[in-house]
Amino acid sequence: MNMAESAALKQELEALFWLEAGSAQEAGLIIINSCSVRATAEQRVFGRLAHYKALKKKLFAETGKAPFVFVTGCMAERLGEKLIEHGADYVSGASEKQKIALILKEVSDNLDAQNPLQKQLNYDNFFSKDGFFNSHYEEGNPRAYLPIMRGCNNFCSYCIVPYVRGREVSRPPCDIKKEIEFLASKQVREIILLGQNVNSYIYPSGAAKDKTDFPALLNKIAAWTEGTTIKRARFISSHPKDFSERTIEALRGSPLFCRHLHLCVQHGSNRVLAAMNRGYTRESYLELVRRLKDALPGLTLSTDILTGFPGETEEEFEEILTLMDEVKFLYSFMYHYNVREGTAAAALPGRIDEAVKRERLAKIIALQKTHTKQLLQNRLGSFEEVLVEGISKKNPLEILCRTERDEMVVCAGAGALAGSFINLKLLELRGNTLFGTAVEH
Ligand code: SF4
Repeated sequence: MNMAESAALKQELEALFWLEAGSAQEAGLIIINSCSVRATAEQRVFGRLAHYKALKKKLFAETGKAPFVFVTGCMAERLGEKLIEHGADYVSGASEKQKIALILKEVSDNLDAQNPLQKQLNYDNFFSKDGFFNSHYEEGNPRAYLPIMRGCNNFCSYCIVPYVRGREVSRPPCDIKKEIEFLASKQVREIILLGQNVNSYIYPSGAAKDKTDFPALLNKIAAWTEGTTIKRARFISSHPKDFSERTIEALRGSPLFCRHLHLCVQHGSNRVLAAMNRGYTRESYLELVRRLKDALPGLTLSTDILTGFPGETEEEFEEILTLMDEVKFLYSFMYHYNVREGTAAAALPGRIDEAVKRERLAKIIALQKTHTKQLLQNRLGSFEEVLVEGISKKNPLEILCRTERDEMVVCAGAGALAGSFINLKLLELRGNTLFGTAVEH
């Protein structure tokens, strides 16, 4: 979500003649779009603020001028003006997005008080009235994030998101359609629908009769993208408790939707899942996986896993590993628990020793690597249509491609192919990277 919102912010700023600086030294304004979901992400922001504070001091001593530092995003929401003590000049959280436009206008006027053009710039249309940016397109990227809702009503006991992103707000279908049309005009090939919990999308909220829920939105998106450059759609994140039969039907109903789902499980023990307030059991999760795999042949799954939750016993930890063995995720985002102040779990007894948490996480990562390798190994010899995303970072003569199942494949090719679909035979696995060769069909 932060990546999408940063891309949107960049686009809006460029429309108002703010250009990207080559370095912090050359910048008039430094924007930090912060994340609160993990303690490490916050520590990184504090590190950046300390760095920019020192840089500002140095630049001011040398030139009499220094860049403004503006912190936005979840951390700004959580800590507000306290960030000023750490070196920020301006702070604006997610709940007061309209303030971002005012801040930018003020900085703009301050930076270039002599320029009459500044007076004419219009910051009024920065967001739609629902607080979503109008477009999240990133120049030249054949994939685009497309937020469809934000916020979360679930209050998982370890999670800070509902406190910093607020309650669920769904974006109007007409605005989603408009952004899809814009993305198609930019030759985008794949869209990734975004939300903290996309399955609970519903518009309008309240008692209105004609509502669009998530499966209905998927059907609309399939129709809106027909005949356009957009040939693939995915979504993140899905909450297992809200994954309906109608959603499965919508996925089956259109080739637009990729055979890959990110389905956050977090844990394999029913006691821990209940303490996390996840709203499903190990059995119901596995049953959902079974139904999904039956309905969508070739489906791959990825997930989020959290170990070291307060009170997690060795047996409960083992249940994560057995669940992973049963599902065989293609990849996982794996973490150990960190206290987030203000959440329900922060008050729970039974904190797990740091060394134990690290050891358990290492076992999970090792098992995931084995599963990833097995799954990719099984794919060798098969033929796949892939989307070329761009030149490989490691070798300028190779291109990086993505399959429908969210596997990355490297093959020989030119960067000019970026944004096209090509056919590959999957030939080799080096480490956990697939290599392929282009074929006619
Ligand atoms: S579903 Fe749970 S983990 Fe996900 S954002 Fe909401 S509260 Fe956080």
